[in-house]
Amino acid sequence: MSDHEVVLVPGDGIGPEVASAVQRILKSADAPVSWIERQAGLAALALGDDVLPDSTLDAIRLHRVALKGPCTTPVGEGFTSVNVKLRKKLDLYAAVRPVRNLAGVTSRYSGVDLVVVRENTEGLYSGVENEITPGVVTSLKVATESACTRIARWAFAYARRRGRGQVTVFHKANIMKLTDGLFLRLARRVHEEEYPEIGLDTLIIDAGCMKLVQDPAQFSVLLMENLYGDVVSDLCAGLVGGLGVVPGANLGEEMAVFEAVHGSAPDIAGRDVANPLALLMSAVMMLNHLAETTGDDRCRHAAERIKAGYDSALAAGEKTRDIGGTLGTGAFADAVIARL
Ligand code: ATP
Repeated sequence: MSDHEVVLVPGDGIGPEVASAVQRILKSADAPVSWIERQAGLAALALGDDVLPDSTLDAIRLHRVALKGPCTTPVGEGFTSVNVKLRKKLDLYAAVRPVRNLAGVTSRYSGVDLVVVRENTEGLYSGVENEITPGVVTSLKVATESACTRIARWAFAYARRRGRGQVTVFHKANIMKLTDGLFLRLARRVHEEEYPEIGLDTLIIDAGCMKLVQDPAQFSVLLMENLYGDVVSDLCAGLVGGLGVVPGANLGEEMAVFEAVHGSAPDIAGRDVANPLALLMSAVMMLNHLAETTGDDRCRHAAERIKAGYDSALAAGEKTRDIGGTLGTGAFADAVIARL
């Protein structure tokens, strides 16, 4: 079998340096991938292209799998988020973020092993904002029956496939009775009609956040709409050591884009201090996805080697500064490679 062609979007800020560390590790682990590099974000603008060039979208449509670094989003002005636009354009409706304790990464909690499933295409991320009159602006929250149903189905199907017994929906249907009400109602319907053997719990999101910080080990699969999923993903990252250790996948019916939960962190870009682990773990998810969708065991084998490599590096205290170590981006990649 030949190598799998995978699109690499290095992104902005720390993106290129963590992406090149990850590429080196995958190469050393004999991962059977060949990279098709495309640009997005400020990197694309600098080349005189659109922030999200058609050539990048077309490459992902063609190859169906991508590994993506973060793209910088201007705050309060400027172009809309490239990350959000890409997920919408390719209809990558499910964001999946596994959050686990790692041996060698100290955190306040132990026994955390949960997965955040975030609806990726609507909610308050509709981008429909209006100025009604000077001094009065609105932002439109959108919920559709089709998007709420498919994300609920995705979460329950995932729970069944992975042997996870419980799905917890975070919502605010007491206040947003129509939008969050629909999300909650359809999650209940999918549960009753299609996945009755899985446990379903529903929590108003404020109480859910309190429970998360009291005892995160009680949760298994968390299901929520777009904005809540964004916020809760970072909260959950904080439970296990921070943004440097949480990977992610954006999945649609036909395509999959793997990217870390963290952003482009311009404050530390270009200084060889960023932790490449979150993107590396995302690449491991990507290899497992390739193994599942193509039946190529070489991908699973490479994923296992890389996971064992970073687990043993972390356990030996070889880690970057954000998680209490002393290594730079490149040195951490070297440490993982030495243990493959
Ligand atoms: P963006 O505008 O792209 O979202 P941001 O700086 O607002 O970028 P994040 O990059 O998500 O948001 O991260 C917030 C902070 O967390 C960063 O400023 C950085 O200090 C830290 N951080 C994030 N990712 C990493 C990483 N991989 N390694 C080390 N520190 C990180």
